[in-house]
Amino acid sequence: MKLVDFHSHTTESDGTSTPEQLVREAHAAGVGTLAITDHDTMSAYEQALPVAESLGIRLIRGIELTCKDAGQNIHLLAFFLNREPRPEFSGWVEEMLEGRRDRNHRLAKRLQDLGLDVRVEEAERHGRQLTGRPHFARVLVDKGYAATIREAFDRYIGESGDAYVQREAPTVAAAVHRIRAAGGVSSLAHPIRVTAGTEAMQREIIAGFAGAGLDALEAYHTDQTETESMRFVAMAEKFGLAVTGGSDYHGGNKAGAVLGRCMGGSRPIPEWIWLGLQAA
Ligand code: AMP
Ligand code: ZN
Ligand code: FE
Ligand code: FE
Repeated sequence: MKLVDFHSHTTESDGTSTPEQLVREAHAAGVGTLAITDHDTMSAYEQALPVAESLGIRLIRGIELTCKDAGQNIHLLAFFLNREPRPEFSGWVEEMLEGRRDRNHRLAKRLQDLGLDVRVEEAERHGRQLTGRPHFARVLVDKGYAATIREAFDRYIGESGDAYVQREAPTVAAAVHRIRAAGGVSSLAHPIRVTAGTEAMQREIIAGFAGAGLDALEAYHTDQTETESMRFVAMAEKFGLAVTGGSDYHGGNKAGAVLGRCMGGSRPIPEWIWLGLQAA
């Protein structure tokens, strides 16, 4: 039986595999349905499609967007199952890319204010279509300011790091509305990362997103345990949401993710999620 994977990244954002390589890796891993969900861009799809067709992989157009809601960064996945998004959508995505570029300049400035010799152009050299914090992390490691990518995030560019800067981002309600209008379905990425004091409070926040028109919950993810996955499956059912699952594969930029698998790479992503998503 073929595996499914609804969350993966390429070199068009902050993954380390090119779109074509990613499809080949997915095929080798036994994946039959793959959504590429780069941050803020859908440019990998066209590049990956010919290889996907030649290998018999069903390729799904996706994207991962960063929203600002409930006092935190919330990642939202969008899937366009049957057709490409309506044209207004790419204009809106372009605005988000602009917000990211602006953030990158402010981030570099903050690092410089801390006395680090890091320029935005150096991080840009690691990215193709866009530049993300993992690319800055690589520069910090290369220049000896941090021993590992993890340390670069912890000390400097992670949410608690000294150089962290906020980015312009839409609310979940606004993003969900845009995705719907463009002909797509939305899923709350790695819901375990929704930060709240208690599980009940986390549930309240997610209930609010459901009320705002969210379509699905990414119950299966590399960073979620079996117990957590079951909790999110039950939550999805309660709120009338579909369920999605993805590895969040970033190649060498994220340890532990295995294509087609969740729960630290230990379990296949259930194939049935595909049916629910089509009905969403
Ligand atoms: P950006 O979209 O440029 O703000 O970068 C966000 C990406 O950075 C996430 O999707 C992760 O891949 C990565 N990331 C965020 N926090 C960490 C962390 N603490 N350690 C390693 N990678 C991280
Ligand atoms: Zn990423
Ligand atoms: Fe994410
Ligand atoms: Fe991701």
